[in-house]
Amino acid sequence: MKKVLISACLLGNKVRYDGGSLAGSGKLISEWIAEGRVISICPEVSAGMSIPRAPAEISGGEGGQVLSGKVTVIDNNGEDVTEMFLTGANNALSLCKVHGIEVAILAELSPSCGSSSIYNGDFSGTKIDGTGVTAALLISNGIKVFSQYQLAEASQLLQQ
Ligand code: SF4
Repeated sequence: MKKVLISACLLGNKVRYDGGSLAGSGKLISEWIAEGRVISICPEVSAGMSIPRAPAEISGGEGGQVLSGKVTVIDNNGEDVTEMFLTGANNALSLCKVHGIEVAILAELSPSCGSSSIYNGDFSGTKIDGTGVTAALLISNGIKVFSQYQLAEASQLLQQ
């Protein structure tokens, strides 16, 4: 049975920068949990970041550019947290390799987990198209990454 990696905050774990979680996981995720398919991680917490923590954004770019060293991840205190984000991304990839995971559901808009939309880096709430650091690393390793709004598409791949 195929396993699926899911952002820990989407499963109700209070791991977000503000100490909260995201909205309830829904029927499909509940079924996947019951089937024993779900492996979860919060990349940022796995890298040793605290709960709560200062919000961070990719400065003027997206996850793939962080992986190639072209841009950094900065928190709203001006601290460079790029290394933590890279560590978290590598932790998520390692987990996928251990469990043979080919499909991930990651929380949209996060500088780690966003798969199609993130914030633009100036902490103004402006969204841009792009991936977070973990999503970019998983995608570049052939893993299909979906957001919490694309569970039906992910489900089709898990059934194959
Ligand atoms: Fe959720 Fe990912 Fe942010 Fe962790 S890093 S709180 S799993 S969106």
